[in-house]
Amino acid sequence: MDKKTLLQDLISAYTHTHKKSEAFFRRASQFQIRGGSHNLRLFEPFPFYDAHCQGSSVTDIDGNTYVDFWQGHFANILGHNPPFVLEVLRNYYKQGDGLATGFPGVLQSELAEFLLSRLSADKIRFSTSGTLVTMYAVMLAKAKTNRDLVMKVGGGWHGSQPYTLKGISIYEKGFTEVESAGLPSGMDKMILITRFNDEGDLAEKFRTYGERTACLILEPFVGAGGFIFGRKNYIRKARQLCDQYGAVLILDEVVSGFRFHAGALQNLYDVQPDITVLGKAIGGGMPLSAVAGKDEIMSLCGPEAKKEVKVKVEGGTFSAHPASMLAGLTYIKYLTEHEEDIYPRIGHLGERVRREIENIFASHGFNVRCTGDGNSVAKNSSAVGVHFLHDRCERVESPEQVWNPDVCDIELREKIFKLAMLQEGFNVFHGYGSISGAHTGEEIQSSLDAVERIAKKWKES
Ligand code: PLP
Repeated sequence: MDKKTLLQDLISAYTHTHKKSEAFFRRASQFQIRGGSHNLRLFEPFPFYDAHCQGSSVTDIDGNTYVDFWQGHFANILGHNPPFVLEVLRNYYKQGDGLATGFPGVLQSELAEFLLSRLSADKIRFSTSGTLVTMYAVMLAKAKTNRDLVMKVGGGWHGSQPYTLKGISIYEKGFTEVESAGLPSGMDKMILITRFNDEGDLAEKFRTYGERTACLILEPFVGAGGFIFGRKNYIRKARQLCDQYGAVLILDEVVSGFRFHAGALQNLYDVQPDITVLGKAIGGGMPLSAVAGKDEIMSLCGPEAKKEVKVKVEGGTFSAHPASMLAGLTYIKYLTEHEEDIYPRIGHLGERVRREIENIFASHGFNVRCTGDGNSVAKNSSAVGVHFLHDRCERVESPEQVWNPDVCDIELREKIFKLAMLQEGFNVFHGYGSISGAHTGEEIQSSLDAVERIAKKWKES
């Protein structure tokens, strides 16, 4: 396969059918860095700009329509712009409400109570992004323990906040480096990296640094790290080690919350963290996130907390925004009421896509493995990562493999396959993405037919 020619051909075909987006990109880049506000959205050669999104699909300003598996950074469990959420917001705005007022509002306690019933925590505070709440969670943990070190897994992404900006991209020595300039000094030493799903490494890190560790922040299902579930014993070991060494266990459920069932993933693992962070799906398409935890920890952000341990979980002009409260409440209630209809169906489609993509590529001589497989606790996985492996390999099980260019052909996954699927009418991310309740069986089948055509073409090229 001549990858260089494939990529060039795909870029020129994409450019040909996205003339308005290309012009818009040039214009937008005069005012915004690379024409946008989030690097992940700004793929090469230039992103398409959306004109309309509905359900499973997105139409761009050139009139191209795609079946979308990116689905709002994997937040849109029910597809884009679900009509029942739009309807309640429309009515809210029609009655003259829905913009920020700076008053507490009555909806938030209903949302708080509802969310707390779907996870293990006593109290909750709302904010506007996953990034902010992971930062608050670490600040709370540091205040609670009066310790400095933050432990996270290699490949774990918790938003762009100082306490977790290390070990996200892989470098020569692995997930070892601080990811950003402009951080407070000493962050390199303050953040410890452990291997995901590796109980031995976790125990070793705690043996060495446990007494100085404020928290372990962990996604029970790594998102950016490659769509991999934590093993049950691993997640439980994390709880046990945090207890043993007096560290705070933060479960980052920004991706996993309400993705695999109508609640936090921790319920399925039967693990009670000290702090949980939520985002993405809980807002029903509006900017909403939450940090929730045990009373003794959450009270540190209250006015009565002693000055030495008081944590500023505040400063959010738009926190608990009324429209986000309403959209979030409407959405998660819907997910809960229709849990049995939604999750087994999208989980089943996910399983079908993972296996069929592997089989299709295998039949054309490619070694491809999909991630996103559920395990004994998490059964309904609608997440699909597609990995093109250099060598024979039975499974892809770790962020170390997903992001190691010697194991996976990352250019093929992130650039070539992405553009090839776009050409076929599908917007994929990290190989595929997430299936939503809005995707039909026919769309899923068409996406597999597209994969078949691509694999055939690659084999012949
Ligand atoms: N935590 C996890 C696990 C995430 O995947 C993300 C974003 O993708 C974040 C935190 C940050 O959330 P946000 O992008 O809303 O700031």
